Amino acid sequence: MEACNTYYYATRDPLGATGDFTTAPEISQMFGEMVGAVLADAWTRAGKPADAIYAELGPGRGTLATDALRVMARAGFQGTVHLVETSPALRGEQASRLPNAQWHDAIEALPKRPLLLVANEFLDALPIRQFVGGIERTIEVIGGALAFTRDGAIVEDSPARDAATASIAAHVAAHGGVALLIDYGHARSAPGDTLQAIRAHQFAHVLERPGEQDLTAHVDFEALARSAAGVSLTSLTTQGEWLERLGIARRAESLASAHPDLAGEIETARHRLCDAQEMGSLFKVIGIHAQGWPAPAGFA
Ligand code: SAH
Repeated sequence: MEACNTYYYATRDPLGATGDFTTAPEISQMFGEMVGAVLADAWTRAGKPADAIYAELGPGRGTLATDALRVMARAGFQGTVHLVETSPALRGEQASRLPNAQWHDAIEALPKRPLLLVANEFLDALPIRQFVGGIERTIEVIGGALAFTRDGAIVEDSPARDAATASIAAHVAAHGGVALLIDYGHARSAPGDTLQAIRAHQFAHVLERPGEQDLTAHVDFEALARSAAGVSLTSLTTQGEWLERLGIARRAESLASAHPDLAGEIETARHRLCDAQEMGSLFKVIGIHAQGWPAPAGFA
């Protein structure tokens, strides 16, 4: 999964109608604006520390950062922008929108400063392991095709995700700040096979076309919470409830009144982001904050 995704992201921009999948920030500017408002609010209530930085993990095209930073600038935030991204192709996309950003290969390389961090659909792309009867199943080549070594009832874990979460928490605990982790997944650890492949907006077989389709798995938010030591966590909230509590409906109204010709499009986007049948309940949000930093807004 790691090898496939490293190649996959390094060799293309997978986002949008002509790519393989679409993400919340690509659906509407309202998503990044809500994230920016939450980060700006936490920073303001923390006393506007001048050394705080904006950080994002797996920023895709840089759309979320662009929308969030526009809102944060209105609150007076002028900190530097730090992007953790391994794909040269996507770094190029990000540079076209965020020419002054600084890029890093790993979370550990972020400057030792208070973080205003967001990761949207980053953790789902990190590799998982699958176990059948307590034994890890691996992949072998049989007759020129990839095949799993064993089948049966599956239990998953993700040491890579646990390590990423622990690293974010360690940074926030040591240097201050808040982090928003947004992804699709489940609130409680549970058995089940959640590995999936997407190509051209369709589900595909996970072992077909290695490196040519997007591989992700549901984020286990209970495991994630266990990995975050030394920090406070908000409650886990669905994306729909979080955006609604933050006032996305008001933002949609104000955008629609400024652009009446786009009113239908804006309403469709709000519905896609929030409705329980769309992204609203499968996608979830959890906030991390340091001692002495306020809990980010929008959580129950
Ligand atoms: N956050 C964006 C893009 C999500 S796609 C959005 O919401 O639109 C996943 C992103 O994570 C891509 O930018 C991909 O290149 C990056 N990524 C995947 N694995 C990574 C890793 N191990 N380290 C850093 N970035 C990674």
